Amino acid sequence: MKGLYVHIPFCEHICHYCDFVKRVPKDQQMIDTYLAALRKEIESYHAHATTIETIYIGGGTPSMLSLNQLDYLLKSLKEFHPIEYTIEVNPESYTEDKGLLFKSYGINRISLGVQTFNEKLLNYLNRKHTNRKVYDVVKHLKRIGIERISIDLIYAIPGQTIQDLKDDLKHIEILDITHVSCYSLILEEKTYFYHQYLRGKFEQMDEDTEALMYKMVMDELKKQGFDHYEISNYAKQNHVSLHNLIYWTLGDYIGVGLGAHGFFDSYRTLNHKSLPKYLESPLEKKEYQNEEIKLQDELIFGLRKTSGISLDDISKKYDVDVLIKFPKLQEKMDLNLVTIENGHLKLTEKGIFLGNQVFMVFI
Ligand code: SF4
Repeated sequence: MKGLYVHIPFCEHICHYCDFVKRVPKDQQMIDTYLAALRKEIESYHAHATTIETIYIGGGTPSMLSLNQLDYLLKSLKEFHPIEYTIEVNPESYTEDKGLLFKSYGINRISLGVQTFNEKLLNYLNRKHTNRKVYDVVKHLKRIGIERISIDLIYAIPGQTIQDLKDDLKHIEILDITHVSCYSLILEEKTYFYHQYLRGKFEQMDEDTEALMYKMVMDELKKQGFDHYEISNYAKQNHVSLHNLIYWTLGDYIGVGLGAHGFFDSYRTLNHKSLPKYLESPLEKKEYQNEEIKLQDELIFGLRKTSGISLDDISKKYDVDVLIKFPKLQEKMDLNLVTIENGHLKLTEKGIFLGNQVFMVFI
């Protein structure tokens, strides 16, 4: 399976925690110019059109583009016929017309940036939508037949209580969607929160409460019928994200757009993050990944899946015995962080909380 990631680096406002490649556009012309360059870059990959099985349009905020701009973007991708076609949507910029346009181009999965249903916390994160709008968007998407809806949630937001998170999970149940991505708030450099932190005005949640919240998310979503298939991702009725599975299984994907990265034919690609440079020529770097690096990546990404990694597959693919090559794994097994079950190396329930300690073994 091969994927195509398309980056739209524009947002109407900047969230206080965000370190993605994004900016508030100066004007509509800036977006139009970008979309024209993006179309050219997409065309340069037309030779791969028949092999692309997933498309993921992310950002930024793709849904903030006007109807005409979205139409232009989706036309640029019409050579591709993926089985899974996702676009990221922020509730405040969704309109029924945009939903119908997505549907007409074959988009069959929506990733909705909600983060929390607590409007006080939303305001703290500098998010601009309301709960009413989230409910309206989900209702409309279902009405037009886009049933695969994923919601992004953030937990461990300073000031968030256990009850707040419980309420968020209750909303997930009521909305009856198929997928949830739930990450803890990470303090990233070059964000508003980081500046606040340097001034002593941002206090991170303590680790114990964060772990308690993570456990609550896992337990509650499981009760709701979700399968916890990756450290931070949950799916109902096997509606896993095929696109993200490509990343976690070290599959090939092409990345187009500002700052996008890709991995195919054993090369990692990285596009320019500076808009003027991107407009001149998108690609900044292309680096060959030798077997050693690929093995390392495949183990680290693969262990993020709760099903783990088939040791047999790894041994056939790389001609190594993982336990011999990485003897420190035994230590992590003794600590009950990682285990082998039915020939699969996987994180234990304890290891899911401490994944980084296991990943270090491979670096
Ligand atoms: S979190 Fe999403 S909407 Fe907010 S600034 Fe970042 S990319 Fe834009």
